Amino acid sequence: SARAAGPGRVRRHSDALRITQQREETLRTDLDRALAEGQLRLVYQPVVDLALHRTVSVEALLRWRHPVYGEVSPAEFVPLAEESALISELGRWVLAEATATVAALPHPDLAVAVNVSARHVRSGELVADVLRALESSGLPSSRLILEITESVLLDDEHVTDDLAALRRLGVRIAVDDFGTGWSSLAYLVGLPIDVLKMDRQFLADVETDPQRRALCSSVLHLGTSLGLVVVVEGVETATELQLLRDMGHRFIQGYLLARPLDRAVLTTQLPGLGGAAVPTSAAGLPGP
Ligand code: C2E
Ligand code: MG
Ligand code: MG
Ligand code: MG
Repeated sequence: SARAAGPGRVRRHSDALRITQQREETLRTDLDRALAEGQLRLVYQPVVDLALHRTVSVEALLRWRHPVYGEVSPAEFVPLAEESALISELGRWVLAEATATVAALPHPDLAVAVNVSARHVRSGELVADVLRALESSGLPSSRLILEITESVLLDDEHVTDDLAALRRLGVRIAVDDFGTGWSSLAYLVGLPIDVLKMDRQFLADVETDPQRRALCSSVLHLGTSLGLVVVVEGVETATELQLLRDMGHRFIQGYLLARPLDRAVLTTQLPGLGGAAVPTSAAGLPGP
């Protein structure tokens, strides 16, 4: 009724909004100290090569255990950090921590992918920050991948110059959250990149819709034939895995094969590198 949608309802909405704004304010303030107080950590999610049956890289993902709110998602706090120069400080910490962690593992070919925010790339400090992390960790540049979003690439010349400089040093550049379109792929030709990471939405309806499946297959093949390593993110079901195998696809990341892992278990839980074997068919997967 009109009454139910009246003042009471408006009040509940504004209460909810106020609580959301309060949380955001608190998180924004507390993020400053989170790093110094050891509340941030990295977890590492394997990227598996279906041809070699083993983990070839891990993606470093930030985690924040807030003293009051508990675990806060990076999807919530990274955008807050991006409002200020704090994101570059955070980015430097992530680079240092991720390179040191992976350099210390007994896997001499394992690479690590680090997410770099647009603001950090645009700051002009990224090249120096990456060099410092490589130098102090001793990790060879060939084992570092920087994940950036597509919009950063299309943005300006200084940015692409810096990325090209990083590539000349041997660091690989990945385009994160890539969509499905042909036109977007055409944009990428000639840009300084090595890896394409397909967003999970790329898999939407592939199980049921033959046209979605054809699009998926074509984009994967086109990316590969352009000389890029293509990683499909967010693989959750055995059917998705089987479809990707049937397309001849190689590189996948997703909860089906491994969740993001704590640093302490990286020596024992990487699929094909001391952890479970990578299943050679969907039938070989452990049950639910
Ligand atoms: P992203 O770089 O695209 O990372 C992939 C996200 O997908 C991660 O979420 C990962 O946990 C999640 N994921 C992995 N497998 C699956 C799956 O099978 N199904 C589903 N539904 N999700 C899956 P997470 O860790 O919450 O990170 C969210 C985003 O936050 C990242 O997206 C990235 O954009 C940003 N982020 C995380 N760590 C950092 C960081 O160190 N620096 C910066 N600048 N951004 C970061
Ligand atoms: Mg990423
Ligand atoms: Mg992604
Ligand atoms: Mg994403």
